[in-house]
Amino acid sequence: MEPIVRPLIAFYTDFNTDMSDSKPTAKDKSGSKKVSTPEAQAPAVETFEFRAEMKQLLHLIIHSLYTHEEIFLRELISNGSDALNKIRFRMLTERNVVDPDAAQQITIQLDKDANTLSITDAGVGMSREDLLKRIGTVASSGTLDFVTEMKKGDGPMDAQLIGQFGVGFYSAFMVADTITIDTRHAELDSVGLRWKSDGSGSFTIEETDRTERGTTITLALKEDKKEFAETWRIQQIIKKYSNFVDFPIFVGEEEVNTVDALWHKSKSNITDEQLNEFYKFVSNDWEEPLGHLQVNVEGRVSFKSLLFVPKKAPKSLYHDDFQFGIHLYSSKVFIQDDAKNLLPEWARFIKGVVDTEDLPLNVSREVTQNSPVFAKIRQILTGKILTMLKEWSVEESDRFATFSKEFGMLFKSGLSSDFENRDAMIELIRFESSVKEAGKLISLEQYVDRMKEGQKEIYFVLAESRKAADMNPNLEYFAANDLEVLLMTEPVDSFIVPGIPKYKDLELKSVETADLDIKKKSSKDKKAPSKKDTKSILERFKSVLGDKVEDVKASERLVDSAATLVVGKSGMDSQMERMMKMMDENFEGAKKVLEINLEHPLIANLIALQASADNDVLIDSTILQLLEGAQLADGSLTSPREFVRRMTELMIAATKN
Ligand code: ADP
Repeated sequence: MEPIVRPLIAFYTDFNTDMSDSKPTAKDKSGSKKVSTPEAQAPAVETFEFRAEMKQLLHLIIHSLYTHEEIFLRELISNGSDALNKIRFRMLTERNVVDPDAAQQITIQLDKDANTLSITDAGVGMSREDLLKRIGTVASSGTLDFVTEMKKGDGPMDAQLIGQFGVGFYSAFMVADTITIDTRHAELDSVGLRWKSDGSGSFTIEETDRTERGTTITLALKEDKKEFAETWRIQQIIKKYSNFVDFPIFVGEEEVNTVDALWHKSKSNITDEQLNEFYKFVSNDWEEPLGHLQVNVEGRVSFKSLLFVPKKAPKSLYHDDFQFGIHLYSSKVFIQDDAKNLLPEWARFIKGVVDTEDLPLNVSREVTQNSPVFAKIRQILTGKILTMLKEWSVEESDRFATFSKEFGMLFKSGLSSDFENRDAMIELIRFESSVKEAGKLISLEQYVDRMKEGQKEIYFVLAESRKAADMNPNLEYFAANDLEVLLMTEPVDSFIVPGIPKYKDLELKSVETADLDIKKKSSKDKKAPSKKDTKSILERFKSVLGDKVEDVKASERLVDSAATLVVGKSGMDSQMERMMKMMDENFEGAKKVLEINLEHPLIANLIALQASADNDVLIDSTILQLLEGAQLADGSLTSPREFVRRMTELMIAATKN
C-alpha cells in the first residue's frame, strides 16, 4: 500500500493490537510456515518460509530493473513516520511505554565502507506477531497480480507505481541483498527481536537484547547500489520525497527535512515549487497538481487547509475501496491520512491537508468523523471548492476542461446526493452538444444563451456514445432547424437528468418524447400525401403492429429516416430504459410510439402499393421491418433473427424481376 496516503483503515485497530497483543502468539495465523524450531537452546533463531505468493512477489522485486528505485527510502521513512505517529498518539493519554522520553525522530546512518544504510525510528516498534503477520505477508491479494501485470511491459518498471501497491517495505529489496530489522515494541513486557532475510525464500526471527523502543532497518546494499550509502544522495532523495514528513529526519548529525507545515504559512510566503512538492508528498502523485486551494478560517470553527485537484483521475476513483486523500491534523499533530466526511463524496478526488484546533485528539475515528466540527468544516470547504471551480470555468477554460474530463462524471453524480449545493453544481456540469465537435463540452447556461427565439425548452438526448447520438434519427428535425441539442453521453447522465426538470424555468425535454412542440419547416420540394392516403396508411400500420406499439403517428421530426420510435405517454427515454434493463433483466419498458415520415420515398411507395394491391404481404413485412429497424436503432430489438429472416425475404422480393 502507499505508505503515505496509505489506508490507515486499521489505524486504531492496529494500534490496539499493537498495544495489547505484543506477546508472540498465533504463528499459524501469520501465513508463514515455520521451518525449524530448535526448542531446547536459547536464544533461538527460527526460520520461516515465505508464502508462495510472497516468494513470487519478492522474486519480481529482486530481479527487475527499475526507474525511480530511490523511492524505497520514501517507503521506509513513511513506515517510520507511521510508527512514530502511533506512539505519539498513545502517549497523549499514557506514558506507560518503553522509553517514554525517546526523541521522536528518524535517523539514517550510512556506511560507505560496509555499503550499508540503516534507518532508525523511535516509533511503536514491532512485536513478534507483527513481524510474522505484517512483514511476512503481502498486504492485499491484488498486489501480486498488479505487479505481474506491470512486469509484462518491456523495459524497466517504474518503482513509483510499485510504491502505490502495498509492497512498501519490500521495495527495499530493489537495492539491498539482505535486510535486517531490529525492533522492540513499546509495550513494557516486549522483547528485542531481529528479523532477517535475503528475500529469496525464507526469513529468520531471533530474540535480541535491544533495549530502545522502536525499529532499526539495515540494508546491506547491492554491489551496484553504493550510491545509497552516499550522504548527498540520501539527502537529495529525502528533499525530493519526504520533505514534509512530520518528524525530523537526520542523516548522520544533520537534520534534512526542515520544511514547516506549509498550510500554516500565509499565501504570499509559499512558492509554487513548495506547493508542487507538497502536493506530491500528500498524494504520492508524480505529476504536478491541476490546481490548489488554501483556506484559513477563524470563527466558530477554526481550521487551516491546503487542498489540491490532481491532473488525472486515478483508476481506483470509482472502486469501493478508494482511499480518501485528506490528511487530518490537529494543531499540527497528524491524526490520520484518509479522513472521510471532511468533503462530500463527489469531491473525493481532492488531496490535501486539514488542520484544526477544534477536535479533541484522542477521541475515536468514528466519533471524530461524525462530529459537528467535521460537518462545519465540510460545509465551508465545499463552498470554497465550488467557488474555485466556478472561477476556473469562467477564467480558465482549459483548466476547467481538464477538470470536467477527469472528474466531471464523479462531480455530476454528486447532484443526486448533495442537495445543499445543487444550484451551484448545476452551473458546473458539462455536456456535449449537437452543434459542437465531439469532446467539446458546454454548460446549461451556454445552451440557454444560444437558444433560438421562440424556443421554450432545452432539448437533450441520452445516448451510449457521441456516435450513437449523432446517428439518432430523432435528431434530424433539430439539425434541419438549427436547434441545439445537449448530447448526454455519460452513463451518469441517465441518473441525474430526471433530477433536473428545469433550468432557469426552462423544461429539459428529451428529443425522444412524443409531445415535442415542434413545427416542421414547409418543404416545397417534397410533397405530403393526401389526407385520405395518410389516414389509410396510418391505419394499415396500426393494424399490422397491433399492441407492439402504443400508437402510430405522422412524424414532424424526421427528415432523412422513414420511421423512428419515440417515448409515449407513460414511457421513459430509451437510454434510461437500457440502463434499467441492465440493472433488472425482467424490466419491461413501456410501449413506444412509432412515428413515420410521410414524405419519405419508402412510405410513398407503401401508399402507392396499398392503393393498387391492398393485400400485398410485402406491405405488412415492410411495416414490421420498419418497426424492428427502429427498435434496432434505439437498442430495444429483442428478436434479431426474425429481423434478419424478414430482411432476407424482402431482399428476395426486391431482387426478383
Ligand atoms: P504498508 O506500510 O503499506 O503497510 P509495508 O510493507 O511497508 O506496507 O509495511 C508493512 C507493515 O509493517 C506496516 O503496516 C507496519 O505495521 C509494519 N512496519 C513496517 N515498518 C515499520 C516500522 N518502522 N515500525 C513499526 N512497524 C513497521
